[in-house]
Amino acid sequence: MSSLKIAIQKSGRLNEKSVELLKNCGLTFENYKSSLISSVSNFPLEILFLRDDDIPEYVQDGIADLGIVGENVISETGVNVHFLQRLGFGKCTLKIAIPNESELVQINDLEGRAIATSYPNILKKYLSDNQINATIRTISGSVEISPGLGLSDAICDIVSTGGTLKSNGLKPFADVMSSEAILIGKNGIEKEEAVKELMQRIQSVLKAKETKYVVLNVKRENLQIIVDLLPGVKSPTVVPLAEEGWVAVHTAIQERDFWEKINKLKAAGAQGIVVMPIEKIIM
Ligand code: ATP
Ligand code: MG
Repeated sequence: MSSLKIAIQKSGRLNEKSVELLKNCGLTFENYKSSLISSVSNFPLEILFLRDDDIPEYVQDGIADLGIVGENVISETGVNVHFLQRLGFGKCTLKIAIPNESELVQINDLEGRAIATSYPNILKKYLSDNQINATIRTISGSVEISPGLGLSDAICDIVSTGGTLKSNGLKPFADVMSSEAILIGKNGIEKEEAVKELMQRIQSVLKAKETKYVVLNVKRENLQIIVDLLPGVKSPTVVPLAEEGWVAVHTAIQERDFWEKINKLKAAGAQGIVVMPIEKIIM
């Protein structure tokens, strides 16, 4: 069988997490920074290292079968590809931001103004959805400095923590789209056996990431209260301890409501709580 090709970012914000995900799927490959292509030795897959902007089109045109790229880049390029899986990293929001001293109050106030962005297509759609006529100034980088230079009244750019906005005297004004890294494929590729196998591995890695393995000790008389606090778990493993009247409970807890649950377990008499990461969950 010929190898599938997956395109990932060569360097930048998504590179490390993309490589980590593929390695956690049990794939063995050299991650040479200098090479543009790397073969996986234990799976029919080749990895192409590319600029993120090029990934959607490579996948659409079938040069790569799969790709990992930010949703924002997919929307901006407007390609026709298959969305296979949200990957939970590279989370950010495309926002409109304005100078701290700006007199703009609501999004309609952008009417007739100039907005600088590296995402002209997404911004154009947002403005037309909101029936706003504004001038879009497309610039490829350092968008944040454009209001200070008198080039625009607002910007539309990627924000994750907001630190860059703040240090440039800008404040968030409106959310345009939220984004995270996505696994995309060329149309029809989802039917390939190797893709199904890879997807299953990715899903088990993602599922494991959301879940923690917890071991705790409790007096046998408090066991039922503890078990009742663990809904969703089919049946926790209960092991007697050497100390008379005590048991250890082994279970899995969702990361989402982790602290709330741990505090309730403590209040119900759980002691010596140990939390461990899970590598994979096979469904
Ligand atoms: P390339 O050299 O591959 O073109 P780039 O400079 O265009 O890289 P990066 O800055 O590495 O891109 O960002 C890649 C992706 O990471 C973005 O498209 C976005 O989906 C995501 N991302 C997450 N957080 C941020 C952030 N704070 N700023 C920019 N992008 C972010
Ligand atoms: Mg780029």
